[in-house]
Amino acid sequence: MTENIEAMLIRKDINPTAMRLLVLDFLLKQSSAISLTDLEKGLDPSDRITLYRALKKFEEKGLVHSIDDGSGATKFALCENDCEAGHHHDLHVHFFCNTCRETSCLPKHHIPQIALPDGFKSEEVNLIVKGVCNKCVQ
Ligand SMILES: [Zn+2]
Ligand SMILES: [Zn+2]
Ligand SMILES: [Zn+2]
Repeated sequence: MTENIEAMLIRKDINPTAMRLLVLDFLLKQSSAISLTDLEKGLDPSDRITLYRALKKFEEKGLVHSIDDGSGATKFALCENDCEAGHHHDLHVHFFCNTCRETSCLPKHHIPQIALPDGFKSEEVNLIVKGVCNKCVQ
């Protein structure tokens, strides 16, 4: 198991420090996107700054992507395999459940192309659908 995690980091050109291995292991166990605070709680005791740097490094190297779900805290989720350093392909819809307050990736649901007025250039698209997830729906 540890070997797999280490290989994942090395494949992404990330130096596999003990802390980074722990962070990746934690991310792999999650079913939804997590915030820095979730990570801090999950890896207690841990240093918030070190964790933040690990997440930022993962994001920079194409291992995780960040999601602004409007909750005020940036969430992080593992990328699909085709993300590269400095170039993310995670143009999928994210879903925020109003009941359990979890944010999930919907990787099969792509963000539709949005036609912008002349002179506007898109740099980033974020699409959050809010509602009730399949675990909470009655
Ligand atoms: Zn990505
Ligand atoms: Zn839910
Ligand atoms: Zn996602």
